[in-house]
Amino acid sequence: MSVQNDTQSIAESYDRLLPEITPENRPYWDGLAEGELRLQCCDACGEYRFPDSEVCPRCLSGSFGWRAVSGKGRLWSWIRMHQRYLSAFDEVRPYLVAYIKLDEGPPIISTLVDVPDDLEFDLPVRAVFEPGLSERTILKFAIETPEDAA
Ligand SMILES: [Zn+2]
Repeated sequence: MSVQNDTQSIAESYDRLLPEITPENRPYWDGLAEGELRLQCCDACGEYRFPDSEVCPRCLSGSFGWRAVSGKGRLWSWIRMHQRYLSAFDEVRPYLVAYIKLDEGPPIISTLVDVPDDLEFDLPVRAVFEPGLSERTILKFAIETPEDAA
């Protein structure tokens, strides 16, 4: 098998891992493509939620809007994946699975770019928008540096 075919099959298996784009989640994916993290926000109680859902998990209202959020949060937990579970991640293994608590409230499971050796609980992070192996832009997070805040 050629290198090109290997890369193509990895991209295809990576694509299969991504959730299907539906009318309900399209604003999220469109936002990422435009460099913005957009979440549903409840019109009744103001709670942000992720992933998308028909009703607010806090007050059960079905009324909501999509709003851009800061993309800032804190590293709440993480794990380094060394074991090969999915061939789609062969090129990036070992990779980090990060549990991020967004400043607006919802938790998001993602990964970090430029992972330092010395991760700490509660490190400030910010969203970055990276083209994936597929056509889609993928949400990742970067450790916030003092220069970012300046
Ligand atoms: Zn609500």
